[in-house]
Amino acid sequence: MAGRKCLALIAHDQKKDDMAAFARRNEAILAANWRIVATGTTGGRVLEAAPSLDVTRLKSGPLGGDQQIGALIATGEADALIFFVDPLTPMPHDVDVKALMRLAIVYDIPMALNEATADRLIADLHA
Ligand code: PGA
Repeated sequence: MAGRKCLALIAHDQKKDDMAAFARRNEAILAANWRIVATGTTGGRVLEAAPSLDVTRLKSGPLGGDQQIGALIATGEADALIFFVDPLTPMPHDVDVKALMRLAIVYDIPMALNEATADRLIADLHA
C-alpha cells in the first residue's frame, strides 16, 4: 500500500528471538501500517514469525546492513528504528551501534532499543 511508513528493524545475537516475538505480537498493526526494512537474518526471523508483513531484507549487519539502514535514515526513507542490541555478548557490533544510534538522534526519528519501548512506540504511533 502506498503511503505506509517505513520501519527499520535490527536485532543482534540472542535478541533475534525478542524481535521475532515483537513482530508476532504486533503483526496486525504492523501489516496495516508499515513496510519493514531489516538486516538479513533479522528480516528472515521476522518473516517466519509474522508472514503477513511486508519485509525487505537488506544485507546482514556485519556485511553492511546496519549501514544500509543508516543511509535510509539519512535520506529520510526510514521513519522509525527498532534496534535490539544484545547487552550480554561482547561488543563486536559496537561501532555499528554507535553509528546507527547517532543517525537516529541526528534525524530525530522514533527509536526503540528494547521490547517494552518498541511495543509502546508502535502503539503510540497509531493511537
Ligand atoms: P543480521 O544483522 O540481522 O543479518 O544478523 C544484524 C547484525 O547482527 O548486525
